[in-house]
Amino acid sequence: VPKRIGIPKALLYYYYFPLWNAFFKGLGLEVVVSSSTNKAIVDKGVKHCVDEACLPVKLFFGHVLDIKDMVDYIFVPRIVSVEQKSYICPKFLGLPDMIRYNVPDLPLMIDVTIDMSRKNGNMYKAFAEVGKIFSRNPWKIKAAYAFGMKEMKRFEQMNRAGYLPHESLEEMGKDMIMRNRSEKMGDNLTIALIGHGYNIYDSYISMNIIEKLRAMEARVVTADNLEGLIIEECAAELPKRLFWTLGRKMIGSAFHFMRKPEIDGIIHVSSFGCGPDSFTGEIIERYIRREKTMPYLNLTIDEHTGEAGVITRLEAFIDMIQWRRAAQ
Ligand code: SF4
Repeated sequence: VPKRIGIPKALLYYYYFPLWNAFFKGLGLEVVVSSSTNKAIVDKGVKHCVDEACLPVKLFFGHVLDIKDMVDYIFVPRIVSVEQKSYICPKFLGLPDMIRYNVPDLPLMIDVTIDMSRKNGNMYKAFAEVGKIFSRNPWKIKAAYAFGMKEMKRFEQMNRAGYLPHESLEEMGKDMIMRNRSEKMGDNLTIALIGHGYNIYDSYISMNIIEKLRAMEARVVTADNLEGLIIEECAAELPKRLFWTLGRKMIGSAFHFMRKPEIDGIIHVSSFGCGPDSFTGEIIERYIRREKTMPYLNLTIDEHTGEAGVITRLEAFIDMIQWRRAAQ
């Protein structure tokens, strides 16, 4: 019977699942992903996590609790950095320890450290270390990693073709042939949605903002639809380089979108209790206001955000864009 490894559907799941999934499958494991966020997951997360944590970290707890009893291992990497001279939020650093001390009866935790910040940072090394837990065959580990990287490439290609990451993940699960998503849309407006993937692509916690916008005949684009190089070039407009990978991605993509005539408005989604989000939100807002051209809305979400309030604000925002258009 193959051993089972659990992957919580939270935080960097939305960025790296294809790599993790293919890697573990390549090593002969069965991958179990937690359910999509629901009320029970949120409640469990809030109950077990410290109050001061941001909502996405609380949710991560809920997802661990959702699958921990179904698996032999649980994957909670300690992600410090995914690229040179840049870092992921410090909250990710302590995640395995926080989980270990607050969640009872855990399966074996795979808490490998991923740190690419230094010159010789090497992602493969981290995976090779994990691979050794499951196989003595270095070729098998290498092949599993290569399979993972191939899947990551496919995932990125789908995102560039207009899919949003949560849709790409779903399509990849079905193994469907890639098609260009934007081709089949006949939408009226295009809205750029800026925010952490684990907020905007989690339909429960974002209150299904993507589908709500689509129902208002808006096409939704995000940073994940852009080439990394474009994002980096635009983020370089800041007087000082930002060392936070995700913050730079948000700012770079917002700078790109705010000058594109095909974009009708920008929505920034931030989490309550997230320091980096309030900082990036402020920079984005300041630059947008300076150019005075792009309609902008900031939505802060927490576990108590009411759906009715979000709908009202989205509707008002879309109406405002339509009036502006009509007046032009
Ligand atoms: S960036 Fe913000 S939302 Fe993400 S883990 Fe850090 S504090 Fe939480």
